[in-house]
Amino acid sequence: MNEYDENSKNTEEETDPQSDNKESNKPDGGSGGNGGGYEQVCSMCHRPESRCGKIMRLPGGLNICSDCMQKSFDAFNQPGGLDINSLTRIPIARIDLSQLNKGAGPQQGVRKKPAADKKPEPQLKFSDVPRPHKIKAMLDEYVVGQEKAKKILSVAVYNHYKRVFSDAKDGVEIEKSNVLLIGPTGSGKTYLVRTLARLLKVPLAIADATSLTEAGYIGDDIESVLSKLLMAADSDVEKAEHGIVFIDEIDKIAKKQNMTSRDVSGESVQQELLKMLEGSRIEVPVGATSKNPMVPTAMVDTKNILFICGGAFPELEEIIRNRLKGSNSIGFASQLGEASKTSDQILAQVTMDDLRKFGMIPEFIGRLPVIATLETLTVQYLVRILKEPKNAILKQYQKLMAMDEVALEFEDEALELIAEKAMKKETGARALRSILEEYMLDIMYEIPRDNAIGRVVITRDYLEGKGGPRIILRGMEQLPE
Ligand code: ADP
Repeated sequence: MNEYDENSKNTEEETDPQSDNKESNKPDGGSGGNGGGYEQVCSMCHRPESRCGKIMRLPGGLNICSDCMQKSFDAFNQPGGLDINSLTRIPIARIDLSQLNKGAGPQQGVRKKPAADKKPEPQLKFSDVPRPHKIKAMLDEYVVGQEKAKKILSVAVYNHYKRVFSDAKDGVEIEKSNVLLIGPTGSGKTYLVRTLARLLKVPLAIADATSLTEAGYIGDDIESVLSKLLMAADSDVEKAEHGIVFIDEIDKIAKKQNMTSRDVSGESVQQELLKMLEGSRIEVPVGATSKNPMVPTAMVDTKNILFICGGAFPELEEIIRNRLKGSNSIGFASQLGEASKTSDQILAQVTMDDLRKFGMIPEFIGRLPVIATLETLTVQYLVRILKEPKNAILKQYQKLMAMDEVALEFEDEALELIAEKAMKKETGARALRSILEEYMLDIMYEIPRDNAIGRVVITRDYLEGKGGPRIILRGMEQLPE
């Protein structure tokens, strides 16, 4: 049995209550009448009904097993009175009242093994993972430019899944290839990861590092990231364990310089993330993003989850330039050479040491061995993003107009104007849609009004308010303009 099989067996044992024979005798699979493939879980000890025996349902949606019920009575009869903490494994201080109702919903619970007559969902196989050149080619269809980043990511992902499906019988264990994406805002970091997960058909969770705090503080616990992944995997633990987690804005949890108070959102969050990045079994709330006694939990092993972290790292360029200046003792000419390099060229020379200086702790960077930098998008790139990707914004508008049997075209100069406006907003490609939407409102409103219109050409003059769009009537499309 290879590592993967073993892993899936473990997972099954953790989360698959039907492995217990008691369960199979019950006509409804022990769900307590709750169909839909979920099993009731005790709100106190989190054990599924197949493990803890008959569960009683109390008003307000609370489920309680007989063991916990007995414990509660015992606690009341104790000489010192009731100690609520003794009833649960989770300190009472962590109960999030807003989650109580959610936790009691009928959909809560760990996923049962599919019934014998139901086809189990196919799990990811190594043969399903495309080769790096195929992954890159698929990414090319959606993501414009960023050639180096796409290549690095394709190889990292391929190696990651090789590692997942390899065994370590020969003593050679392939290390995790978690990835760090460094690039300006709106350059496509999240989009790359989203596209990748969609193409590979693996669950994806996107989290913002700024919302994560050390356990016990206001904000999301680290486990919330895995809860999201579990949700994306439809509560299927095994599927989640082959998924991808993207943690954005990772630069925002850099160690703060000259901090006097305790740093609960920076360095300590990095510390807490270490275990997860490297691979460990973590108790994860199911169906909610924070742990509380009303929410069932599942054990998720993160060793086969690919973690991709992303950030803009704004002052990193300066750190690299200073290093290059310092180390370049060959002379004035070479220093001049470095000075004339673009931000992208400088960023591409980033080292672990630069990231440490930025405020990332060495253990954290050590767990992200693959680093890819993304380029700043230029006007030319933005124009290409408008029209080239498979689901490009222009193609979407053209499709909308085609439903009115109207052909929609854009002059190159008009697209450049949109791209120039987007550049000014300094949010990369993110601004393109809202700018275009504003311009297209009148067109989308007026054109369907007139059945005679067969073609509309959006010109730069129109966007600059110096004239209208070029309109060609039906039957006249072939005539010279
Ligand atoms: P960030 O780098 O801040 O994570 P995003 O990936 O969220 O940026 O990009 C915002 C949007 O801009 C994406 O949803 C996508 O539509 C578009 N976009 C950004 N970069 C590219 C690119 N290189 N190719 C195609 N679309 C892109």
